[in-house]
Amino acid sequence: MAAVIECGADIDTTPENHMSLKKTLSSASPLTLRIVAECSVTKARACDLVLPHCTVSTPVFMPVGTQGTLKGITVDQLEGLGCQICLGNTYHLGMRPGPDLIEKANGLHGFMNWKRNLLTDSGGFQMVSLVELSEVTEEGVKFKSPYDGKEILLSPEKSISIQNSLGSDIMMQLDDVVSSTVTGPRVEEAMHRSIRWLDRCIAANKNPDKQNLFAIIQGGLNADLRKTCLDEMTKRDVPGFAIGGLSGGEEKDDFWRMVTLSTDHLPREKPRYLMGVGYAVDLVVCVALGCDMFDCVFPTRTARFGSALVPWGSLQVKHKQYAKDLQPIDPDCKCPTCKRHSRAYLHALFKSDTAAMHHITIHNIAYQLTLMRSVRQSIVEGHFPEFIRTFMKRMFPSRDQYPSWAVDALASVNVTLE
Ligand SMILES: [Zn+2]
Repeated sequence: MAAVIECGADIDTTPENHMSLKKTLSSASPLTLRIVAECSVTKARACDLVLPHCTVSTPVFMPVGTQGTLKGITVDQLEGLGCQICLGNTYHLGMRPGPDLIEKANGLHGFMNWKRNLLTDSGGFQMVSLVELSEVTEEGVKFKSPYDGKEILLSPEKSISIQNSLGSDIMMQLDDVVSSTVTGPRVEEAMHRSIRWLDRCIAANKNPDKQNLFAIIQGGLNADLRKTCLDEMTKRDVPGFAIGGLSGGEEKDDFWRMVTLSTDHLPREKPRYLMGVGYAVDLVVCVALGCDMFDCVFPTRTARFGSALVPWGSLQVKHKQYAKDLQPIDPDCKCPTCKRHSRAYLHALFKSDTAAMHHITIHNIAYQLTLMRSVRQSIVEGHFPEFIRTFMKRMFPSRDQYPSWAVDALASVNVTLE
């Protein structure tokens, strides 16, 4: 197991490396990454990510809130589950109630009464995915407000200004988002524009001593474009990096290759956030590929359809087979839902009351957080490869059901599944 390493402490101090040392020491970002342990087989690592509101143990899954709340769960419950960081949605919050009111309420922390860390997105992704009438120019993303039809320009400066008002611990740069299934010159244009917009976001940040700005690596599924983007963005002194533009319907084989290419080129001493990933298998594999942070609406969204996440996949509470089943969702789960309620009760409740969704949401978030804690513990204790094998065996009834992309991705980091 590796000793605790302070950010930048292991940097070579020979003259040729003096510039990079100086660059690291000059960054006064409100973020420190301490590497607690590195897996000796895979690229996985366990870190303490020290942020303004508390220290986050990584690898970490970050649940997604929309309008300052997570659908189906309160801030107290989220805290009770041990969540150290969650996401706020800039697009929704920027539109309604608006950044001025939230600033008056002492930022999004005060508005939500959430005492731990918050990460806000740039607002750009929602615009492209939710608003049909959006147009991207060098200035920014132009779109019509779905609330009053007014034309609005979300520029890199505007996105950072809103996120400064929200007061999040981690802000995301505005990037030029193209679907991961798009190919051709548009991908290259978006990649270069994202680099220019990163510089504008860095310049616009009014609170660099309190709020961390993360860059987002783009380049679609093209390895050369990804590398160019990685080369350029890692020259900037930002506190962390996200891998963007994936998890949008591309082939899983392309997905993991782009992830591992990115982690190969990202600096070891900074956090790596893989955006939009939340399926259990994807989380475990991408930790092995070297990612530290993840977010996804999947666990909360799927809960609203009655799907509970379990170590053997998912359990559909609505199915008839659970009508008389007095076991909890997962007998090994220690969440408040599993401690108090049976499958039969949730099945009956689902027919008449939205409270069922609430109970399943709590269970699903607890599942994600517990999974990541177990992953971390296995990295710290030095048996992450064994953890992966046990996890896969439980998730899939037989070896021939293992997804081939996961088998290949794990083989690339020296883990063979038997
Ligand atoms: Zn549970």
